[in-house]
Amino acid sequence: MGTYVISGAASGIGAATAALLREQGHTVITVDLRDADVVADLSTAQGREDAVAGVRARTGAVHGVVPCAGIAGLTGVDPELVVSVNFFGALALVQGLRAELEAAGGSSAVLLSSNSVTCQPGWNAEVAAACLRGDEEGARRAAASSDAVAVYPATKAALAYWTRQESVKEEWAGAGIRLNAVAPGMIDTAMTEGLRKDPKLGVFADAYPSALGRPGRPEEVAATISFLLSEASSLIVGTVLFVDGGTDAILHPLKP
Ligand code: NAD
Repeated sequence: MGTYVISGAASGIGAATAALLREQGHTVITVDLRDADVVADLSTAQGREDAVAGVRARTGAVHGVVPCAGIAGLTGVDPELVVSVNFFGALALVQGLRAELEAAGGSSAVLLSSNSVTCQPGWNAEVAAACLRGDEEGARRAAASSDAVAVYPATKAALAYWTRQESVKEEWAGAGIRLNAVAPGMIDTAMTEGLRKDPKLGVFADAYPSALGRPGRPEEVAATISFLLSEASSLIVGTVLFVDGGTDAILHPLKP
C-alpha cells in the first residue's frame, strides 16, 4: 500500500480520487483551502511552502501526487488567480515533493489538464508560453490583459506540455517517477455547477457533444487517475489521456 498526496481533495475529482485510493487501502494526505489534512492556499508562495512542509511532516516517501486543485475560467474570476492556482500551484506540489516521490521508488504523478485545450478555441498562447518558461509574473501579466475564459485552457495546455516535456527527463522517468496527465471533459462537480450558473457562459455548459450523451462523473475520472498511479500503467510515461466521453474524438475526427 502506498501514500498519495491529493490537492483539491475537498471537492469533485480530488475528493473522488481520495475516496477511491482510501477504499483501495492506501494512505491519502489531502491538501486544500478547507477540510483537508494540510490546509494551504496554493495560489501563494507561502501557501505552497506550507503545503509541501505539511506533507513532509506526515511522510518521507510519496507514491503518487495528484494536483487536482484548480479554479474555473468563469465570468468575474480573476485571470491571474487562474494562472497561479492551476499551473504554478499544481507544479509546486509535484516539484516540491520530487525527492519524496523518488524515495518511494516506482512512483507517479498525474496532472489535471482538460479537453478544453483541444476543444475550446482562442486560448491565450502567451500565458501558456510564460507558464512553460516558469515565469509566473509574466504569465500573470499576460493573463491580466485577457479574461479568465481564455486563460483557463492556456494553463491546462501548459500542464499538458510540461508533463510531456518533463516526463522523459532523468530527474523524473530516470528517477523512477512517471509523469502523466488526464484531460477530462465536462464532469459534474462544483466547478461545472459554477459554469452552469455563469450569466454569459452557462448556455455553453451542455453545448459540447458527448458520444455518451451525458456529462462525466468525478468517480470516472478518479478511476482513470488511479490506473495511471498504479503499476498497471507501468509503461505509460508522458501521456495526456482524454477522459471525456468522446468529445475530443467527435470534434477532431481523422480526415482521410
Ligand atoms: P472543484 O471545484 O470541485 O474542486 C476544486 C478544489 O480545488 C476545491 O476543493 C477547492 O477548494 C480547491 N482549490 C481551489 N483553489 C485552491 C487554492 N488556491 N489552494 C488550494 N486548493 C484550492 O473542481 P473539479 O471539477 O473537481 O476539478 C478538479 C480539477 O480537474 C481542476 O484542476 C479542474 O481544472 C480539472 N478539470 C475539471 C473538469 C470538470 O469538468 N469538472 C474538466 C477538466 C479539468
